[in-house]
Amino acid sequence: MAYVVTEACIKCKYMDCVEVCPVDCFYEGENMVVINPSECIDCGVCEPECPAEAILPDTEGGLDKWMELNATLSATWPNITMKGATPEDADSHKGEEGKFDKYFSDKPGDA
Ligand code: SF4
Ligand code: SF4
Repeated sequence: MAYVVTEACIKCKYMDCVEVCPVDCFYEGENMVVINPSECIDCGVCEPECPAEAILPDTEGGLDKWMELNATLSATWPNITMKGATPEDADSHKGEEGKFDKYFSDKPGDA
């Protein structure tokens, strides 16, 4: 079992999650982060830190797409362990619907 970053993270990137992870298993994309499921120790510490409620346990139903994306993207994106600068428009995208179709990017971040 592991925790999974989902659609709500897109364009938010507050990154409160990455600083609390004891095993540094977050990876940064252009406009979101993902968790490497084989490194995650399932401690759950990051889940309540995310103001966008984007982090969920993979035991929740309906997360197949996001489990796959976290696994594949974390293999190519750079590791991120410290909170970076939050984008100026992050708050305006919080809770927005349909962010995957509108904004998803598989490009790596600049961590
Ligand atoms: S705190 Fe939540 S929204 Fe922000 S980067 Fe982490 S998972 Fe994404
Ligand atoms: S559940 Fe724990 S180990 Fe897994 S990503 Fe969150 S803080 Fe890191």
